[in-house]
Amino acid sequence: MTTKNLTLAEAHAMAETCLSHNGCDPANARAIADRMVQAEQDECLSHGLFRLPWYVSGMKSGRVNGHAKPKTEQLAPAVIKVDGDNGYAPLGQHIAHDPLVECARQNGIAALALTNMYHIAAMWPEVEAFANEGLCAIAVTASYPYVAPAGGLQALFGTNPMGFAWPRKDAPPLVFDQASSAMARGELQIAARDGHKVPVTAGIGPKGEETTDPNVVLEGAQLGFGGYKGASLAMMVELLAGPLIGEFLSIESAEDDAGRNGPPKGGELIIALDPAKFGDPDGFLAHGEKLFAEILKQDGTRLPAQRRFAARQQTPIKGISVPISLYDDIQALMP
Ligand code: NDP
Repeated sequence: MTTKNLTLAEAHAMAETCLSHNGCDPANARAIADRMVQAEQDECLSHGLFRLPWYVSGMKSGRVNGHAKPKTEQLAPAVIKVDGDNGYAPLGQHIAHDPLVECARQNGIAALALTNMYHIAAMWPEVEAFANEGLCAIAVTASYPYVAPAGGLQALFGTNPMGFAWPRKDAPPLVFDQASSAMARGELQIAARDGHKVPVTAGIGPKGEETTDPNVVLEGAQLGFGGYKGASLAMMVELLAGPLIGEFLSIESAEDDAGRNGPPKGGELIIALDPAKFGDPDGFLAHGEKLFAEILKQDGTRLPAQRRFAARQQTPIKGISVPISLYDDIQALMP
């Protein structure tokens, strides 16, 4: 595949300029570009520049508010809501960070309902940022119906990711962030774009047939990881990121989109826990390290997020490789 090498600064400038030129005010353009380049830096390509033309199409369709002014509201002593004003998620997520940290430190636990925003992307940027403040955090979101319930053939659940982060002493946080489907949607789309096969567990064709062709899965339905267990986690995420916070189920988000194939509108639930207010404020960090050391004693193991953290060190030096087709698509949207 032919690629274009860019520095992170060049990628950020390109994303910010493109978003500004296509309907974002400076605050929204900066917050979105920050998130996309953060994903590129950690080599999480399905949430990087790959999404830029799609984000532009969402604004051009008139559905997504590029001038969104998210508003924070305290719903209960330990529950905060941020209304994203129909914009993309990053600005609302950015604005929500400090209030959630303060609320969790006061109460020991705090929940954040992010609502009325488009395309809540990866979970790790938020949970990792809370763990950098010394908190544990869990985040979930739903999307569009891509995943069949266990035993079914019709897509009903989103690929519904869940992220978790745990603070560490003198080390970056322990973070995992995974879809409840066998494969994330973006990864499936990238496999289709690049002509790669996918594992047979990734999904089924329209009649329930087995396939390793990502294009056939895109016509049919994805599957939960680990069969019915992943499907139940996807169902839990639907409930927490939908009905609990007054937001769409994945099927409702698709109805709202009405076939435009724009970014999904929906919500995210984040729960932050302050270990200083639980049972072992002085010992929990060392106790967690004992677990990580035991894991890493075993050959073949690594901690989740280690791949990302390694990439994070490398990309500022070597730059990022953008497929030339994507680069050209973005250039066509530039001033
Ligand atoms: P992966 O399967 O690539 O990785 C899941 C997690 O497992 C990561 O934290 C990863 O860490 C870790 N991991 C991978 N291999 C190992 C290993 N051998 N040992 C220990 N840990 C390991 O992620 P997904 O494809 O499920 O999801 C990709 C992204 O897509 C996520 O950020 C997710 O939030 C996002 N997503 C968003 C959706 C949405 O609707 N907004 C829907 C679905 C997914 P590492 O990163 O270091 O490899």
